[in-house]
Amino acid sequence: MILVLVEHDRGELAPATLEALTAARSLAADAGGPVAALSIGADADGLAGTLATYGAETIHQSHHELLTDYGPELWGEVLAQAIDSLSPSFVLACGTDRGSEVLAQAAARRDLPLVANCTEVRPGSTLELTRVRWGGSLLEVTTLDAPVALLTIAHHAVEASLADAPAAGAISPHPPTLDPVLARSVVRGRVEREAGITLATAPVVVGGGRGVGSPEGFAPLDELAALLEGAVGCSRAVTNNGWRNHTDQVGQTGTRIAPEVYLACGISGAIQHWVGAMAAKNIVAVNTDPEANMVAKAGYAVIGDLHEVVPAIAAEITRRRA
Ligand SMILES: Cc1cc2nc3c(=O)[nH]c(=O)nc-3n(C[C@H](O)[C@H](O)[C@H](O)COP(=O)(O)OP(=O)(O)OC[C@H]3O[C@@H](n4cnc5c(N)ncnc54)[C@H](O)[C@@H]3O)c2cc1C
Repeated sequence: MILVLVEHDRGELAPATLEALTAARSLAADAGGPVAALSIGADADGLAGTLATYGAETIHQSHHELLTDYGPELWGEVLAQAIDSLSPSFVLACGTDRGSEVLAQAAARRDLPLVANCTEVRPGSTLELTRVRWGGSLLEVTTLDAPVALLTIAHHAVEASLADAPAAGAISPHPPTLDPVLARSVVRGRVEREAGITLATAPVVVGGGRGVGSPEGFAPLDELAALLEGAVGCSRAVTNNGWRNHTDQVGQTGTRIAPEVYLACGISGAIQHWVGAMAAKNIVAVNTDPEANMVAKAGYAVIGDLHEVVPAIAAEITRRRA
């Protein structure tokens, strides 16, 4: 059995879960065994239908009074107990912050190895994995010999897709035994983003780098992102300067994005930025330097001053819509 951790917040599904389920389906085709999901907390019960359409034959639902909000130790212990009782061959999660955290917790609790950020899983007499290391600058091939393989799938390495036909999605209660001491670290509050569009899931991202020059310089980027119903991202040079919040940072130490279009303005395209942006389907660079790495890597480039180019794009969109 391949057990997939369902990542959600009070019942709101993290789309990354669907990537993990899609990866689990292709692993099941190679390695055999059904795909099952572990949903933690009663708030996640409503996700069963969606999980079935992405291939979950069984959904193990863990209910407990301590499982209303996300807590890494609580979730890690629930997963560890699920490993004990369900004996899966593989446990998969998407390599998001929470996916990595919960699998690491379970691995530590059961003294199991964890292979993080896999891009390929090749079962066989020896389990072989390709995984991303060093912020994406190295692909490592590794083998794993363990009674159960705990793997995270690199975020955006797999495109989520529906199963050919919905799976059974049979519900199986999985009540855990939890010591209240595990509730040491639990989410207690949330800051809602105004537009409801997050950087990680936005279909369009307008990114700004040091070339933007100031916090105020982001106003035209904000305007363009709003016109395109997208989000604004930035480089670390920007967050280091305090021009934008770290939640807007794209890259190795920020958010990994996968929009349809990434408009990278005044960003040189350092490797640490690139690894967060490379899953974008189309990249348009706006840069004064035709030799900039981002220009070389982009599908399209405008060589010019972003302070002229970005307002011109916004004005043209407004003109055409009118
Ligand atoms: C461990 C580690 C982790 C890191 N993690 C990240 C990360 O997660 N994300 C990240 O972004 N960086 C990260 N960095 C930093 C990274 O190495 C770069 O320093 C950073 O990405 C550079 O930001 P930038 O492209 O905005 O600035 P610069 O490299 O200074 O580039 C500015 C670009 O703007 C162009 N430009 C200037 N003026 C204009 C204008 N008026 N119009 C158009 N173009 C203009 C220039 O030609 C240049 O290409 C990390 C570094 C380390 C060591």
